Amino acid sequence: MGIYPIEEGVFTDKSEHDILNTPKWHKSLEGKVALVTGAGSGIGRASALAFAREGAKIVVADVQVKEGEETARMIKDTGHEAIFVKADVSNASDVENLISTAVRKYNRLDFAHNNAGIEGASASTIDYTEENWDRVIDINLKGVWLCMKYEIPAMLKQGGGAIVNTSSVAGFVGFRDMPAYCASKGGIIALTRGSALEYATRGIRINAVCPGVIRTPMVERVTGGKKEAEAPFIGLEPVGRMGTPEEVAEAVIWLCSDAASFVTGHPMVVDGGLISQ
Ligand code: NAP
Repeated sequence: MGIYPIEEGVFTDKSEHDILNTPKWHKSLEGKVALVTGAGSGIGRASALAFAREGAKIVVADVQVKEGEETARMIKDTGHEAIFVKADVSNASDVENLISTAVRKYNRLDFAHNNAGIEGASASTIDYTEENWDRVIDINLKGVWLCMKYEIPAMLKQGGGAIVNTSSVAGFVGFRDMPAYCASKGGIIALTRGSALEYATRGIRINAVCPGVIRTPMVERVTGGKKEAEAPFIGLEPVGRMGTPEEVAEAVIWLCSDAASFVTGHPMVVDGGLISQ
């Protein structure tokens, strides 16, 4: 028997992992306020739902209004609190407005999952355009920095908090024809480590989560939604399947919880063994 009551078989069927109906793991998130960017889809939506399950109030942020509002509705439908704020994470005034709206609404900000990102165009290093490079770096890397720039002062005011930035296995190992994506995700790991040191004695832990191949709309765009196009991606995964957004969300929740109180500056891989090969 571990510290937390783990119900037999709760996580055995990952494909049917119902995040809102999974038992609560961590009392330390109850009544706190969590912000998730890119929460209208995939990993961000699963993370927003997982924070809600743990009893936190959620600030759902995305560029996509319909999808972001849908995530907030899913949370509210189960009796939890959520607001949606439209924000482009690559735009400083959007991010400033996002954080100030969150703090105005809930008086504090305890957790942030800086997750919004794009895969960008697929092209070799020499064929990659400057426009595509700038777009990917602006959203994936500058977006994470901008979010932390405005989240950290809010957390310092209340004496602490926890931040998780979404990187990728692409921050550890190379992938062809994704130069800006790989650079942005490696950059997030380096940024996470440096920023974690700055606030380590001031009550803020900053970590990263580095997913492997996760079944989300992002991967469906790459495979064109075709089963036969999935094989090479599943082939990258020693566990023999793609991960689910919920499996990444559980790592984010743990990193934000008091159970991870001695963990900061850590890029946690959630990758089915991909980078261990
Ligand atoms: P997803 O399903 O495409 O969800 C990402 C969400 O973020 C979408 O709603 C997207 O809107 C939104 N977004 C894009 N640009 C934004 C911006 N500038 N400001 C605010 N929101 C924005 O992707 P996902 O697979 O869940 O990916 C989430 C994160 O995990 C990304 O950082 C991704 O790089 C990372 N990741 C994913 C995988 C994977 O296998 N899926 C693996 C490793 C890492 P649009 O639809 O308009 O783009």
